[in-house]
Amino acid sequence: MTLKRTLAICALLVSAVVPAADGAAQVVRSGPSSCKAVALTFDMCPVREGAGYDAPLIDMLMARRIPATFFLSGRWIVKHEAEVKALLTVPFFEVGTHGQVHAHLPALDADHQRAEISRPVLTLQKRYGYRGLLFRPPYGEYDDTAVEIARALGLQFILWSAVSGDPDPRLSPERMLEDLRARVRGGSIVVFHANGKGLHTRAVVEDLSQELLNKGLRPVTVTELLGRCNASADHDPTASNR
Ligand SMILES: [Zn+2]
Repeated sequence: MTLKRTLAICALLVSAVVPAADGAAQVVRSGPSSCKAVALTFDMCPVREGAGYDAPLIDMLMARRIPATFFLSGRWIVKHEAEVKALLTVPFFEVGTHGQVHAHLPALDADHQRAEISRPVLTLQKRYGYRGLLFRPPYGEYDDTAVEIARALGLQFILWSAVSGDPDPRLSPERMLEDLRARVRGGSIVVFHANGKGLHTRAVVEDLSQELLNKGLRPVTVTELLGRCNASADHDPTASNR
């Protein structure tokens, strides 16, 4: 094999493992503050009891055509086949992953972290033919190893800049909205739950999304937020990643 050909193959391999999107090695908490958009995100952490699926919330997002990004844990995916399919068919929804068993990543060695991060990604790929490109660590906990593993897997590491606190049953919808109004601005990534743990999630998201629109801030998916508002991104944010 000639040196030229070897180099060409090496370049090909490198481009295959290095994701196209900029900033994949970084931990993303928000888009640029100049961005006139906000990403509403919903974690599907595993649940021991209940349906684990906030159907009224999802139905409202669909009826009002509100773009949303969902982070699915592997345990949740296994129990919600029909719901996974339903989420994947909505063109203004985006799906990422949220670990296999919702483990505390920094407590695991590299091999176990890799398994925790990659298993739901592989499940989505094998069973649903969907390539999830976003990863949110369970509890928002991570270390350098986790960031490096996600990067090597071609995943963007997504946290948040505003917490709704929606799983807390003591928080009234009014209080949640008040806090979110103070924190959410252009470029924000807001975290909610769609696994049925948020008693008031639907009401809060419905009101918040309307208020954001009134302020000229459009709800968008995370990929749109990072693509549309990040001039250095070299990928097409509107391209389907299916
Ligand atoms: Zn979670």
